[in-house]
Amino acid sequence: MELEFFGAAGEVTGSCHIVRVNGRQFLLDCGMIQGNRKQEQRNREPFPFNPEEIDAVVLSHAHIDHSGRLPLLVKRGFNGPIYTHNATKDLCGILLEDSASLAQRDAEYANRKRPDKPPIEPLYSIQDARQVLRFLKGSKYNQKIEILPGVEIRFQDAGHIIGSTSVELWLREGEVRKKIVFSGDLGQYDTPILHDPAVIEEADLVLMESTYGGRTHRERSLTHDEIGEIVSEAHHGKGNILIPAFAIGRSQEVLYTLGTHYEEWKMSRWHVFLDSPMAIKASEVYWDYPHLYDDEATKFRRELHEMPRLKNLHLTSSTEESMVINKVTSGGIIIAGSGMCNGGRIRHHLRHNLSRPECHVVIVGYQSPGTLGRRLVDGEEEVRIKGQWIRVQAKIHTVGGLSAHGDEDDLVRWFRGFVNKPPVYLVHGETKSARALEQKLQNEAGTRATVADSGAVIDLTKI
Ligand SMILES: [Zn+2]
Repeated sequence: MELEFFGAAGEVTGSCHIVRVNGRQFLLDCGMIQGNRKQEQRNREPFPFNPEEIDAVVLSHAHIDHSGRLPLLVKRGFNGPIYTHNATKDLCGILLEDSASLAQRDAEYANRKRPDKPPIEPLYSIQDARQVLRFLKGSKYNQKIEILPGVEIRFQDAGHIIGSTSVELWLREGEVRKKIVFSGDLGQYDTPILHDPAVIEEADLVLMESTYGGRTHRERSLTHDEIGEIVSEAHHGKGNILIPAFAIGRSQEVLYTLGTHYEEWKMSRWHVFLDSPMAIKASEVYWDYPHLYDDEATKFRRELHEMPRLKNLHLTSSTEESMVINKVTSGGIIIAGSGMCNGGRIRHHLRHNLSRPECHVVIVGYQSPGTLGRRLVDGEEEVRIKGQWIRVQAKIHTVGGLSAHGDEDDLVRWFRGFVNKPPVYLVHGETKSARALEQKLQNEAGTRATVADSGAVIDLTKI
């Protein structure tokens, strides 16, 4: 009975861990490594296991850094069930296809740059992505499921995006019985739309994310005040507001927040563009699971009979519709992917708006090192987009309060739910953040915390 860390150990993206019980093995997540081109090349490397010998996958949520290598896993011979929440199943249909078309475009771009060399194959094709859907088995929260002999799981709400889960795992091998808990990505408490992360009281070992270890988000009300000020400043300066956002989660939260502040922020003076085919489809899934909303969102939805309420919202699916946005020089709030600006339509809006001092870029999520989003956050004066150098004159605002991830206090609060203070392995964090959380959990929650090393194997019989 053992656990091996493979991805998202000492880094944020590429979540993947292996559990072995009774001679069978299954994965916790199978995510994509995201960052600059060189970092993303690592997705092509062989898995450190034989995909044909993996019996099942447990997928915590739909984000591509947790699900993005599933098509590769299937392409390389995996042929078993993938257990996840129903909403994640729906979202994966949208996300993985998009990821495949991005991979295809990347490969085409790279091949144009090196015409005399043998062509590079895309990481995987749309067909590969569609194959994954056949293996997805959706379920609800709070339902115990036996996934393999001696392995039962139960999904709990992680409050991170719709359908996101923390996973309880009961493992049995001979006389040995252990319970491990995988946090998945944990949301902030009091996040709009979603419930708080569920309290889990017992575990022999916890595998926990640490994205925002050592950091505290601004209070949500202050963040809202800040957005209100940006909206007002941009209106007076006659500029646009660009919001790079993950198609799933942040886009819906931003729309909801604009909707709930409609009068206060005088939203009727603006045109809001959700310029992402994927975010448009993901929003449909979001609005399709109202039973997963918290009380406030349920009330808001009941009163207005729609979600979200933005009369001036334009859903621009087609490229032609998106191009028309280029003509909007003021009064536009443009929400587009990708969330870290390393691909997608946001790059083309940034190209048109970054050099204009009257424009504003509002960063609402985590930015991985090496991405364009991180460069903007770090205050680089000039950035290169689609081969063109652009002077950054627009104002860049990082509004931490809207992050889909809990901050350090949230993470500690979630951990305090465990009454028996189990040992913790920290994953899904840059080393500095994971180390900070390690200290904090040791000092304040009185537990043994360790930053997981990629490739390390934990003998679960000895915990
Ligand atoms: Zn996530």
